[in-house]
Amino acid sequence: MMNADKIQKSVRGVDNLGIYIHVPFCAKKCNYCDFYSCEPNCAGNISEYIDALCKHIKAEAPAYRKRTVDTVFIGGGTPSLVLPKDFEKLAKTIWESFNLTQDAEFSMEANPGTLSEEKLRTYKNCGVNRLSIGLQSADDEELETLGRIHTFDDFKENFLLARRCGFDNINVDIMYGLPDESIEKISKTLDKVSEFPPEHISAYCLKIEENTPFFDIKDTLSIPDDDKICDTYLTICDKLKDYGYEQYEISNFSKTGYRCRHNLKYWNDEEYIGFGPSAHSFFNGRRYFYDNSTEKYVSSLRSDILPLKVWENKQKKSNEDDADEYIMLKMRLFDGIDAEEFFDKFGVSFEEYTGGVQKYILGGYMEKCAEVYRFTPKGFFVSNFILSDILHFNNK
Ligand code: SF4
Repeated sequence: MMNADKIQKSVRGVDNLGIYIHVPFCAKKCNYCDFYSCEPNCAGNISEYIDALCKHIKAEAPAYRKRTVDTVFIGGGTPSLVLPKDFEKLAKTIWESFNLTQDAEFSMEANPGTLSEEKLRTYKNCGVNRLSIGLQSADDEELETLGRIHTFDDFKENFLLARRCGFDNINVDIMYGLPDESIEKISKTLDKVSEFPPEHISAYCLKIEENTPFFDIKDTLSIPDDDKICDTYLTICDKLKDYGYEQYEISNFSKTGYRCRHNLKYWNDEEYIGFGPSAHSFFNGRRYFYDNSTEKYVSSLRSDILPLKVWENKQKKSNEDDADEYIMLKMRLFDGIDAEEFFDKFGVSFEEYTGGVQKYILGGYMEKCAEVYRFTPKGFFVSNFILSDILHFNNK
């Protein structure tokens, strides 16, 4: 029997575009974050940035007028720092510039402590129908260590307010692998979050990245070792399953019918167009992104010059590159890879291409259900290692 998410996909088809809008501002940089973001006044003020963004969207959108758009994702940074009047301007530009489907998923990211009733009602009136709230932990001490600007109570207040304003599709981000973490602490976070309960939970592992405050003090942080992190990850998978969430991707769990359609585009190799500094796009088989500079982005649009696209994969990709990329993206999903589809696309069987995955199936890291190969939760945790073994890019 097909599940609700598969039915949704087969009805929508795969020809629709996704739109990603980047709002790069953060009230304060978190101690672990290496995403591109800047202070709210880094390029004039936020209103000036929204004006530049709208100009950019209006200039580029006519190229996509033959396409329908079924997902919009406003991410950051912290999009919930945008004032309601500016948000209205941005949303109006999006609705007027693109041909959005009636059931388009319109998501935006928000941080606890930055939401208000006025903002939430504005988002709702502007067609936003999915909120993604960055909580990270239900433990205030952990939040302080991470350098977050909010407490768990701030989150609680904002989440309940969002419900009262009519949001019935909410994601909550949490993190694991934190300094001094224990199974008890992460379990408490999951128990508290599941009480609300959100329709979707994303669980990401902390990585200590260069050029972050955490990197400078990494030797003093008591980060759990790989075995402990693996136990924590499997605990998260088990607990969320018990709470009625299905795991559909390495880090993503949803109630039935609430998978994030926009993010699925990335993993299903579907097309999306990004706007804003550091935003990425994939269109007509090619990928490009905009430079990480809000100052340059705003000043070039102020002079009516479109920001420069930086093209990736300049050289023509080989069939092997395509197959590697396909495996890398698809194996992130619990739906995995359909052997027949793989053969039709690449003219070689999955087993032959990968050199055989039987040892991973026997070890409990992968499973083969009918013609579908996929990772188990234990396999997801070591998927980078397994992928580097079965993909061809290593042999070049
Ligand atoms: S709020 Fe998000 S984007 Fe901003 S610094 Fe923190 S983790 Fe990074």
